Amino acid sequence: MKAISIDGSRGEGGGQILRSSLTLSMITGRPLHMINIRAGRKKPGLLRQHLTAVQAARDISGATVEGAQLGSRTLSFRPITISPGRYFFAIGSAGSATLVLQTVLPALLTVPGRSQLVIEGGTHNPAAPPFDFLAKSYVPLINRMGARVTCTLHRYGFFPAGGGRFMADIESSGTLQPLKLMERGQLRSRTIRARVLNLPLSIADREIKVLRERLGWKAEELVAEELPHGRGIGNVITAEMAYDNVTEVITGFGRRGVAAETVADSLADAVEEYMRSDAPVGEHLADQLMLACAIADGGEYLGVKASSHSQSNKEVLRAFLGCELELCPLKTDTVKFSYKGTRFIP
Ligand code: AMP
Repeated sequence: MKAISIDGSRGEGGGQILRSSLTLSMITGRPLHMINIRAGRKKPGLLRQHLTAVQAARDISGATVEGAQLGSRTLSFRPITISPGRYFFAIGSAGSATLVLQTVLPALLTVPGRSQLVIEGGTHNPAAPPFDFLAKSYVPLINRMGARVTCTLHRYGFFPAGGGRFMADIESSGTLQPLKLMERGQLRSRTIRARVLNLPLSIADREIKVLRERLGWKAEELVAEELPHGRGIGNVITAEMAYDNVTEVITGFGRRGVAAETVADSLADAVEEYMRSDAPVGEHLADQLMLACAIADGGEYLGVKASSHSQSNKEVLRAFLGCELELCPLKTDTVKFSYKGTRFIP
């Protein structure tokens, strides 16, 4: 079969084009030839997280691979058969472990069977889905489409120390049902957690104070917590808003040299941005659900925005499947994502 050529410098120019291409290559059985991997990033080529995603995809699909080295900007990937089973993947750095799962999970959902994946690396990274988002926002929607996935956190892993670990138990019937998600429904609960690892609890307290003043949530909806001991240091704030039809998890990270108040202020901005729209699907969830719609061969949802990640994913979907996932702005802060696919799984 002729390989699909993907230029990784297009669109967002980051790791997602690589990961989505690997996923779609496994699902369709079409070989992938990729150039200019992560050309749009400061450190281009395969970093540990991306290399582990390639290796995970290789193991799960029995692929032959060329170019799977750190720093590589070119990759050839020829999958054979997707095999459910027990797998262990270790990134060996604080690279995002959740992104490794998101590379292989959609592929495992196209074949019937049970799998158990244990992945080590970063579980709470900026610019990647934090574990809380994975478990409370992304996975429940995948499960609503017919999968049975449970994620369990074993250890927190923050950048730069890493050392995190989680497990995903996956039960797949081999197909997903299309997702329709047009309304949030009633707000059922909302919680903000400011957590610190090996840092003074006063940092989390300061963040909670700002968030309480900015958002006006009740005292019991805001919690400052010290995490049980783990490697390195970390400070993460998550705002979890559970509606009838969707749970949104918005995350902010403390950084050396940035005041706790500033971190909290940015999180409050992001929460207010989500609240301004009534679209159910937040920016990040929106790009991550696109591949699930491709597997289900259909789906429709309202997102708060079409990010550059969504635009890039759209191009990769078109290259592999030849069908369009339309991103149609309806009004300010609302974009309709609709995928009217055509059955592609043999
Ligand atoms: P890339 O930058 O190309 O490696 O892709 C990063 C991926 O992580 C995209 O799917 C983003 O939507 C996702 N992502 C980044 N930040 C967050 C966040 N705070 N919550 C959930 N997902 C995120």
